[in-house]
Amino acid sequence: MEDVIIVGAGPSGLFLGIELARQGVKARILEQASQHHGQARGTALQPGTLEMLSRAGVLEPVLARAIHVHSVNVCGPGLVSLARTQLAGIDAAYEFECCEPQSLTEEVLFERLQQLGGEVELGIHVTALEDHPDHVCVHFVRADGETDSARARYVVGAGGSHSVVRSAMTAPHLEGETYAGHYLVADLRAELAVPPGESTVVVSPEGFALFAPLPEGRFLIFVNGPEGSGSPSHELLVSLLEQRVGLPLQIHDVRWSSYFRMHKRMAVKMGEGRRWLVGDAGHASSPLGGQGLNTALLDAADLGWKLGLVVRGQGRPSLLESYVLERHLSSQQVLDISDGIHQSVMGLVEASREGVLEPVAEPDAEIDLAASRHRAMLTIDYGESPLVGEWCSRPFPPGPTPGQRYPDRIRLQGPGHHLLVFGSASLHGFGERWGSLVEVVDAAGLDPARAGVGPEGLVLVRPDGYIGYRTGSNGEEDLRALEAHLRTYLELKEASLVVEPVP
Ligand SMILES: Cc1cc2nc3c(=O)[nH]c(=O)nc-3n(C[C@H](O)[C@H](O)[C@H](O)COP(=O)(O)OP(=O)(O)OC[C@H]3O[C@@H](n4cnc5c(N)ncnc54)[C@H](O)[C@@H]3O)c2cc1C
Repeated sequence: MEDVIIVGAGPSGLFLGIELARQGVKARILEQASQHHGQARGTALQPGTLEMLSRAGVLEPVLARAIHVHSVNVCGPGLVSLARTQLAGIDAAYEFECCEPQSLTEEVLFERLQQLGGEVELGIHVTALEDHPDHVCVHFVRADGETDSARARYVVGAGGSHSVVRSAMTAPHLEGETYAGHYLVADLRAELAVPPGESTVVVSPEGFALFAPLPEGRFLIFVNGPEGSGSPSHELLVSLLEQRVGLPLQIHDVRWSSYFRMHKRMAVKMGEGRRWLVGDAGHASSPLGGQGLNTALLDAADLGWKLGLVVRGQGRPSLLESYVLERHLSSQQVLDISDGIHQSVMGLVEASREGVLEPVAEPDAEIDLAASRHRAMLTIDYGESPLVGEWCSRPFPPGPTPGQRYPDRIRLQGPGHHLLVFGSASLHGFGERWGSLVEVVDAAGLDPARAGVGPEGLVLVRPDGYIGYRTGSNGEEDLRALEAHLRTYLELKEASLVVEPVP
């Protein structure tokens, strides 16, 4: 019997394979395609996601190859700028988005998976799942038509929006709505006079066009247009883009193009019994928000450490239940952010139609920064999760609270929990009790305020870099409260060493 079967080797399935491998668990990954797709699809990797990729040892090739996008320029016809939003000042390790074709991101993920001893079985189409009290039976068809099955303690649906894993759950549909209108996407070269390192959104009475820069002088474009199927013609793409930009455009070397609809939908539950959903299998947001791929990767980051601990016998089932709650909260936030961006672009198109489109006179820097931080995926808050808490033996200073991202998380290495100990404290055997599950960090070089405590607090940082628990002081009572919290979801037994394979 397998511990974990992952259905689908898109970004979410690959990243989950990596996160599980970092926890010492090898998953079996089944992918229906016989070869890699090579399409641009989701291109924008947000700053919050870059921090996650960095912790998993995946970031360097992405940083080296992708375009670093520092701002978004919203323009009217003739590329007259109306408003510009910046990522500078968002307080992240990387204050830019990385833009590259999704196929390249998947290549990097696949290479890292291989380094960690993982693999993907190609040409295997999962057709059905069957629940049993202690396992799930997964039925599949191989590329040569032969049918087979495998048993697993847990199955994760990473198969995108038409997930076979979700369709076998009690609420099999993505609930929500489909946006009005039809859209076209293409990966192409365009002679467009825009600065490198900037995304451009053009609005006009006819609609909008988004140009996201890609390596090699290419762009991923989205544009609204007529309904269609297959690949749109070159002439149609040129005419739609020229109408919106209001300038003659040289468009060539179209590598991939398609018609598509935009959705705002999510699964009722991200898990049920022994089955879990990650990525597009669990939600669909407007690509104008640039969040879909990112939230797929963050689902995998959240499920990876929890499932890893449970499979190793060091996590209680409540850990997996928290995945459903935490990622529901986060998916809702992502859908709201993407919807806000979608509606504001459509609002500008409407204003353009009515002839009242004007540059933003005095942008409010604070509102802009808050919006950029949301879109950058830095403001996810698991504060309502039972997996986070605090012991308020002394008042806490302003700063991040339990359930929020620890802003210096990339300084912490390794796949386990970290306990940041500020001030001099006696930990009464904590290190021996928790072994490799919780690494004790002398936090002398770190700023306590950025961890949300005073100069003598304790801060537990979860494996995904979110603050799990904090105490006002570092005395015996504080430590007892922290350990009681850890026992609600970790099994305190002889911990087998978590050894992260060296790349
Ligand atoms: C046109 C377009 C533009 C986008 N732009 C952006 C953007 O700018 N920013 C952003 O963040 N996101 C964007 N996205 C969204 C992004 O591409 C997705 O959110 C992302 O691909 C989700 O990854 P995933 O792993 O969940 O699913 P997928 O990428 O769909 O991967 C699912 C995998 O599972 C396999 N599979 C499916 N069913 C089975 C089965 N039964 N058996 C075996 N294998 C199976 C599939 O072959 C596939 O390889 C865009 C998407 C589209 C279509």
